Amino acid sequence: MKIAVCVKQVPDSWAEKKMAGGVLDRASVDAVLNDLDEYAVEEALRIVEANSPTKEAGEGSGHTITLISMGPDRATEAIRKALSMGADEAIHICDAGLGGSDALATSLVLSKAISDGGFDLVICGTESTDARMSVIPAMLAERLGWAQLTFAGSVSVDLGATKVSIARLTELGIENMEANFPVVISVIEKINEPRYPSFKGIMAAKKKTITVKSLADVGISADQVGSKAAWSNVRDAVLRPARSVGIKVEDGGDGGTKLADFLAEKRLI
Ligand SMILES: Cc1cc2nc3c(=O)[nH]c(=O)nc-3n(C[C@H](O)[C@H](O)[C@H](O)COP(=O)(O)OP(=O)(O)OC[C@H]3O[C@@H](n4cnc5c(N)ncnc54)[C@H](O)[C@@H]3O)c2cc1C
Repeated sequence: MKIAVCVKQVPDSWAEKKMAGGVLDRASVDAVLNDLDEYAVEEALRIVEANSPTKEAGEGSGHTITLISMGPDRATEAIRKALSMGADEAIHICDAGLGGSDALATSLVLSKAISDGGFDLVICGTESTDARMSVIPAMLAERLGWAQLTFAGSVSVDLGATKVSIARLTELGIENMEANFPVVISVIEKINEPRYPSFKGIMAAKKKTITVKSLADVGISADQVGSKAAWSNVRDAVLRPARSVGIKVEDGGDGGTKLADFLAEKRLI
């Protein structure tokens, strides 16, 4: 079984961020592996371990886990972290023309990188913690012409039947769904507890192959990606104003009435 896991490098959620020219200034903040993609890597490792004669991922398992990432040079750091968790290799699509790409362009690039690889499964996180659109997995499935099983709270793979089943937790209950290979899955954060990279894993990751591909390598021209090709452009952005001091209601025995008057004035009751 060949599994691809889409991983994205994102600005650290805790970093103080600045806007530059209507977009987030990514260069000035620390960057990390998207938290939600750690669950996708962990799930891929668990699928391989459950279906490997050695009960381990890596060489001898009979399966491979390839990371796919689109991002600037420094996305390598996030890729190495996911490799140190246990993935086997990575494809990094890195090209100056990609800056400002929207979700449509991102899904196009990722789908081209995936379509050449002979993968059975693609696993994504549910969303990136920076752009938070939650659209890439569905767009990938559409572009590849594969089934999509999104927002999975649990996944099981039947290799004999080349079939994947998921349980999707919804507000109304649990939806059990299945599809035949090849499939795009997205996983939610309740699905597992991602492992910490071990010292052995960190050392091994240094030697794993990251294949860097340009736009030309994946068969895409510069006019299909980047801010000029984006279907939407951010024209302006302003920081949220600092919170002002609220209204303090002194309770001299009539606090409840004052509160009710306030809510009625705001048409909240
Ligand atoms: C007008 C415009 C300008 C933008 N400019 C920039 C910019 O200059 N720089 C920039 O970085 N972003 C920019 N973005 C954001 C960028 O388009 C999104 O990050 C991208 O489309 C993916 O959407 P998402 O991050 O919301 O993914 P989601 O759909 O929330 O992600 C779901 C999952 O898809 C996978 N995934 C998503 N993105 C990638 C990736 N790049 N590589 C591998 N896997 C991935 C991950 O598994 C992730 O968990 C811009 C967006 C718009 C609309």
